[in-house]
Formats: sequence, structure tokens, C-alpha cells
Amino acid sequence: MQEYITKNEKETIKLGKKLAASINTGSIIAIAGDLGSGKTVFVKGIAEGLSINDHITSPTFTLLHSYEGMDATLHHFDVYRVLDERELFEIGFYEYLHSGDICVIEWAELICDLIPSHAIWVHIERTLNDVNERRITIEGMNEA
Ligand code: ADP
Ligand code: MG
Repeated sequence: MQEYITKNEKETIKLGKKLAASINTGSIIAIAGDLGSGKTVFVKGIAEGLSINDHITSPTFTLLHSYEGMDATLHHFDVYRVLDERELFEIGFYEYLHSGDICVIEWAELICDLIPSHAIWVHIERTLNDVNERRITIEGMNEA
């Protein structure tokens, strides 16, 4: 497990980019953290790292946004509002996980039983030091 402290949004984006540089097609990234902790900011970094230039927003109501990059396709889930597993079946969640594309799941801790065991887990939390400081742990990242 690696632990990082980021002091602002920019540093969290940079860390997302670093993670993107270490993943492969088919990687699944499960992101846990409270509302406003910086999950979507982290996904922005991942997207940047994959050379995806789209504007990244939380798919809070649609559950899923997909982005096509030059080299990779990114499926970005936000499962905060998912009420039951059937909803995930309906949007093809499991097919996406096995599609060979890169999948990122915000609020993954809410469905941790459904996350494949090979997923990379990212935990983001605020610290008591500063409103803009975050402690970010990453489990399962390949060392570059
Ligand atoms: P979430 O997706 O977890 O609900 P967002 O990524 O949408 O959260 O929002 C995080 C908010 O916190 C943004 O407004 C961002 O500017 C702010 N922020 C402040 N410091 C940081 C930091 N170190 N890392 C990420 N976001 C930060
Ligand atoms: Mg979000």
C-alpha cells in the first residue's frame, strides 16, 4: 500500500495521472471516500493520464460516463445512488468490468462485494491539518 498526502486539487490530479501511467487495459480502480473528498478530481487525473481531454464530471445521476481516448476507453461509474445490484446489471456493469477497458468506480466501498479482487483500491480522506489536504492510499498499484 502506498500513502500520499496532497495539499490541493492539482496534486491529487497529478497522483491520478501517476496511477494512470501504471495501469493496463482492463484495470479496475475502486475509489472510496466521502462526498467532496476528491474522487472525481482524482478521476480527472486518471483521464488526463490516459490522454482523454473530455471534461470529467461525476456520473451521479446516470451512474456511468464513458470516454474514448486515443489509446484507452475509460468507463467512469458513480454508484452513490445505486439502490440494488439489479440496477448495475441493467446498465451492464459486469460487462464493462470484463470489457478490457479501464473502469473507475466512485463510492466503490458501497458495493465492495461486487468489486473484482484484482481491483486497485484508492481511499481518499480529509485530514485535520488543512481544508485542502487529503490523505490518499493506493493498494495494488504496480510500481513504475
Ligand atoms: P467527490 O467526487 O469525492 O465527491 P470532488 O472531486 O467532486 O469530490 O470534489 C472535491 C472538492 O475538493 C473539489 O472542489 C476540489 O477543488 C476540492 N479539493 C480541495 N483540496 C483538494 C485535494 N487535495 N484533492 C482533491 N480535491 C480537493
Ligand atoms: Mg464525485
